[in-house]
Amino acid sequence: MTLTIPFDNTYARLGTGFYANQLPVPVKAPELLAFNGDLAQILRVSGGETAEMAQVFAGNTVPDGAEPLAQLYAGHQFGNFNPQLGDGRALLLGEVTGADGQRYDIQLKGSGPTAFSRNGDGRAWIGPVLREYVVSEAMHALGIPTTRALAAAATGETVWREGGKPGAVLTRVAASHLRVGTFQVFASRGQIENLKALTDYAIRRHYPEADGPMGLLRAVRDAQSKLIAAWMSVGFIHGVMNTDNCAISGETIDYGPCAFMDVYHPNTVFSSIDRTGRYAYSNQPDIAVWNLAQLATALIQQMDDPQEGVEEATEIVHAMPGLMQSEWLTRFRAKLGISSEQAGDKELVTGLLTRMAEGQADFTNMFSALWGGTARDHFLDPAAFDAWQQDWAARLEGEPDPAQVMRQANPVFIPRNHRIEEMIAAAVEGDFALFHRMNEVLARPFEDQPEHAALMRPPLPEEVVKATFCGT
Ligand code: AMP
Ligand code: MG
Repeated sequence: MTLTIPFDNTYARLGTGFYANQLPVPVKAPELLAFNGDLAQILRVSGGETAEMAQVFAGNTVPDGAEPLAQLYAGHQFGNFNPQLGDGRALLLGEVTGADGQRYDIQLKGSGPTAFSRNGDGRAWIGPVLREYVVSEAMHALGIPTTRALAAAATGETVWREGGKPGAVLTRVAASHLRVGTFQVFASRGQIENLKALTDYAIRRHYPEADGPMGLLRAVRDAQSKLIAAWMSVGFIHGVMNTDNCAISGETIDYGPCAFMDVYHPNTVFSSIDRTGRYAYSNQPDIAVWNLAQLATALIQQMDDPQEGVEEATEIVHAMPGLMQSEWLTRFRAKLGISSEQAGDKELVTGLLTRMAEGQADFTNMFSALWGGTARDHFLDPAAFDAWQQDWAARLEGEPDPAQVMRQANPVFIPRNHRIEEMIAAAVEGDFALFHRMNEVLARPFEDQPEHAALMRPPLPEEVVKATFCGT
C-alpha cells in the first residue's frame, strides 16, 4: 500500500506573491531514521513501506496532492530588519486536516535550495534534525504548544559545516508556518492587498472569532503570552526569538540553538551567535513584547485610519507584559502546588528563584524534588532553602491538593543539552539507540522512570554544554 497523505492545500491558493514554487532536490541515498506513528495517525497519514517513506521524507518522491513551495517572509534578526528571508532550506508540501479537525502544515526542512536560499545550501545535517525531532516532541509531551516532528530521513550525502557531516531532512508539522515576519514582508513593501489577504487568511485559519487586524493582534498577544510563560516554567531558552521565528499560532517554532537550563540563572544564554544576551532566559518576555510590537506595526499599515490603528495597537501591546506576568504567576504557583491566588505569591516565587540562582540549583530537579522533601539538597547552602521553606509551608495551608498540582507542573525529564550532544555524536557514528531512548522517555516527562535516572542527571562539569549552534 502506498503512502497516502490527504492533502488539502489552502496556502498555495493565496497566489504567487506569497511563495515560490519549488520541488525538493533529490538526494543520493535516502534512509528513514525515524517516523512518528502517533502523529501520523492524527494527520491521517497512512500506508507506505519503509523504503517508500524514506523516498518521500528525504524529498526524492513528491507525494500525490503535495504542492511544494517555499514561503516568503521577512524578519528582524537580533533587532535588525532583513526585508527578505523566506524558506531557504524548507518546503511546504501542503496541508492536511487532521483526525482532530485541526489543519496542519507538513514541511520538509533540509530539502535543498530555494529562491530564498541566498548563499545557503538549503541542506541540514543530522545534528539539528535530530535535535529538533527530540526537543519539539518533548515540548509537545510537556503540554506546551509547538511544531512537531513527523519523520527524519538521512540523505546519504555530506553537508559541509565546519567539516563534513551526514545530511538529513526533517519533516515538520505545524498549525501553520505564518510568522510575524510573514506580515512584515508585505507591510515593508507596501503590498497592502497581500497584507490584507494574509490577515484574513490568518484569522480564518487560527482565530476565526477575531475581529479584523486588531482582533488578530490581540489573539496573537494572548497566545504568545501563554507560550512564553510556559517556556519560563520549564526553563526553556529559545535562543533565536527573531520575528521570523515567532509563529502567529502561538506554537514554539525553529529549534536552533535552543536549550533547557540545567542550573538556574536568569541570564543564561546558549546560542553561540547571541553575543549580547538579547535572547537570555529572563529577557524572553520582553522580547515577546518587542516582537508583538513589530506585528502591530505591520498590521496597522492596512487600516483605513492609521492613527486610530496606532492608538488601539499601542493599547493591545502595552497590555502584554501584565498578561504574561499573570500567566507566569499561574504557572509558577502550580509549580509550588498552589491553586488559589493570594497577595505575596509573586514574592514567594521570586524568593525561591533568587535562592536557586545563588545556590546554583538545578531548575528541573529542584522543582521536581520539592514535594518529596529533598529539594534542599539541590542548593549549595541548604539553609537558604530552609528559610524560604517555612513561608512556603505556611502558604500551602488550606491548598486542596498540592502534591497533585506539583506533579502535573514539574517535569522529571527534560531534554538535557549534554544528552542531546551525546545523542548526536552517537548518531553521526550510526548509533541511534540514545535518540530512540530519549524520545521514549521524554514522551512521559511527568512520570518517574527510575530505570532512566541517567537522563535526569545534570551534566558533570566536563559535560556542560556552554553554547549551541544554529541549525544551519
Ligand atoms: P533561522 O535562523 O534558522 O531561522 O534561519 C534564518 C534564515 O536563514 C531563513 O530564511 C532560513 O531559510 C535561512 N537558512 C538557514 N540555513 C540555511 C541553509 N543551510 N541554506 C539556505 N538557507 C538557510
Ligand atoms: Mg527561522
